[in-house]
Amino acid sequence: MKYDYDLFVIGAGSGGVRAARMSANLGAKVAIAEERYLGGTCVNVGCIPKKLFVYGSHFSEDFDESAAYGWNVHDTDFDWSKLLANKNKEISRLNEIYRNLLESPGAEIFETHAALTDDHTIQVGDHQVTADKILVATGSWPVVPDIPGREHVQTSNEAFFFESLPERVIVVGGGYIAVEFAGIYQGLGVETTLLYRGPLFLRGFDESVREFVRDQLIEKGVDVRFNAIVDKATITTDGKVARLSDGSRVVADEILYATGRRPLSSSCGLSPAGVQTDARAAIRVNSDYRTNVPNIYAIGDVIDRMQLTPVAIAEGMCIAYNLFAGESRKVNYNDIPTSVFCQPNIGTVGPTEAVARTTYPDLHVYESSFRPLKYTMSDNQERTYMKLLVDGGSDRVVAAHMVGPEAGEIIQGLAVAIKAGATKEDFDATIGIHPTAAEEFVTMRDRAR
Ligand code: NDP
Repeated sequence: MKYDYDLFVIGAGSGGVRAARMSANLGAKVAIAEERYLGGTCVNVGCIPKKLFVYGSHFSEDFDESAAYGWNVHDTDFDWSKLLANKNKEISRLNEIYRNLLESPGAEIFETHAALTDDHTIQVGDHQVTADKILVATGSWPVVPDIPGREHVQTSNEAFFFESLPERVIVVGGGYIAVEFAGIYQGLGVETTLLYRGPLFLRGFDESVREFVRDQLIEKGVDVRFNAIVDKATITTDGKVARLSDGSRVVADEILYATGRRPLSSSCGLSPAGVQTDARAAIRVNSDYRTNVPNIYAIGDVIDRMQLTPVAIAEGMCIAYNLFAGESRKVNYNDIPTSVFCQPNIGTVGPTEAVARTTYPDLHVYESSFRPLKYTMSDNQERTYMKLLVDGGSDRVVAAHMVGPEAGEIIQGLAVAIKAGATKEDFDATIGIHPTAAEEFVTMRDRAR
């Protein structure tokens, strides 16, 4: 064999692990290097621990809710260190599952830094190996803008390991991570301020969804401030201070920046191998994830197409089957459903109403907002919102948007129908499951617009 490996993967996150294990399953000789943690961001400092925190924080409402159902829940108190320890235990268990997923089909794991030294050679720790094909799946890393005092602020990487639960938190940003963490802290009883630089957060999501989530967060007690630009962070005896461009100050125990993630491409030896990146440091690839160097590929956050675990996994599958099973798969990036685990959750598939209007001249909009049955017995004012977008020309349902409990679970099912080209008539012909929130999606009869 000319090379030590058929495939060498740098980065054992969602995409890298999937590509490595599927390639090994298909008979390739595979090695994978990981310098931090098996499973990458999603398993260690992302999706999984975040969702566990969301579950943990929601209990406060559940306890309140339960009183209306006759329960006397006395003296609830919350132990952050216990949540952290149990979360860490679960993550360690998942790390081992990832190890087994790789080792079972025979992929070799190097738990150390790896960097290309040329187009077929990789420096792995203190020795070099060669590979026919190389896949870079090094993911992304939180970015904090270059403001004075940035050393005083934290990112999601640290927030998963805070030694104690802060009493007051400032969350800066208005994307997925900011609204998710604002919800987590608020639920855990932390005095939470969300600072977003623009007039309305969650840019890119449907306008109605963005407004609805804003109202729900405010209703739950998050201090949401828009057009709030932080120009400096300092530490005083009272805590950490975010100074805003209008001269006002917000004080808290921690300042969490959730202002986006950048491709992590600077230390894996792209230059010696001649691999090109763009201005955002994303590796440039063609539709087969091939870089400008023909035997080097890249997938996942490091190519900065869509920073979502299931997308990286789909890209990893694609690479494995195309390289080692002679297939020519493509990932279809249309209608990718997604969920934001703010409280209540957002679930969405298909274009926003504004975008759909530009594509479908005869757009039919159906929407509904209601108080979930569960909350009618208590004074929980949380509401649910749903919107269906239908192309009047073909009657096809082109998008579904929801804000409400388990929106992700509901939208996942609808995404199949939408992907399969279901029409509004199909939705109307589907009998609802009663009483659920989801049945609303098949009983929307009157057009809102
Ligand atoms: P996002 O890109 O979602 O949001 C970044 C936010 O920070 C935006 O509101 C942006 O504002 C704001 N921002 C950017 N630069 C600055 C700046 N210099 N000063 C102030 N605000 C700024 O990034 P996240 O960090 O929230 O998450 C990263 C990615 O991870 C997400 O895009 C998503 O793909 C993925 N993710 C997915 C999750 C899920 O599936 N549930 C959960 C968490 C993360 P503006 O809109 O004005 O540019």
